[in-house]
Amino acid sequence: MPNLIELPDNKLQPAYAKTLLPNVIYRFPEHKLCEPRHRGIAEAEGLILKLRAPTREGSRQRLAVSIHEAAHKLAMQKLGIATSYAGQSIHHCCETDRFLTVFGAVAANERVMQALSAEQLAAVSVAGHVAERVFLGEAPAETWEPDYEDFLSSGKDGLRRSQLILVWKLAEETMLDELRADIPWQQKIVHEAARFEAQIFGFDRSVNAAV
Ligand SMILES: [Zn+2]
Repeated sequence: MPNLIELPDNKLQPAYAKTLLPNVIYRFPEHKLCEPRHRGIAEAEGLILKLRAPTREGSRQRLAVSIHEAAHKLAMQKLGIATSYAGQSIHHCCETDRFLTVFGAVAANERVMQALSAEQLAAVSVAGHVAERVFLGEAPAETWEPDYEDFLSSGKDGLRRSQLILVWKLAEETMLDELRADIPWQQKIVHEAARFEAQIFGFDRSVNAAV
């Protein structure tokens, strides 16, 4: 299975390149890619292996990721935004010098996203964890914090951080009430989540079938 590394292969030490996880985008500066593996990368890979594992915990996590991303996608679709799904990736964040593990994502055109108002971006951003709360009863902080931080740092409509927090809270409460009452929309999310799961985690089944 191909790796989706976003660096030329020759930047990797051979020992490292042979042990990359399949179907993971590795995106970080060259000097982090030496042997022995940086502890942050090894930890991120451990989290991805747990997510992909044929265990109860693994399948629960895959379900949560699928529901979360499907809800983001449908919220974007409502605004007429075209999207595509992406799978797991490991990024290096230069500002904090930390490694970020992404379990799944919805990609959209950056310029289209920049054109959204604060309310529209809030509706898209809260959709993921709101759906998790409605379907699974909870949304752990690590699933909503990245969306929250991205939204607050967007500087949308020239609003200050404290004002954006209010916009976020309002969008969250409104969507929570609406989704709880809207059974057809819940069904749409369930169907979309199944599509996400097949597209992003489907290779797990093919791996298992081949063993
Ligand atoms: Zn999200």
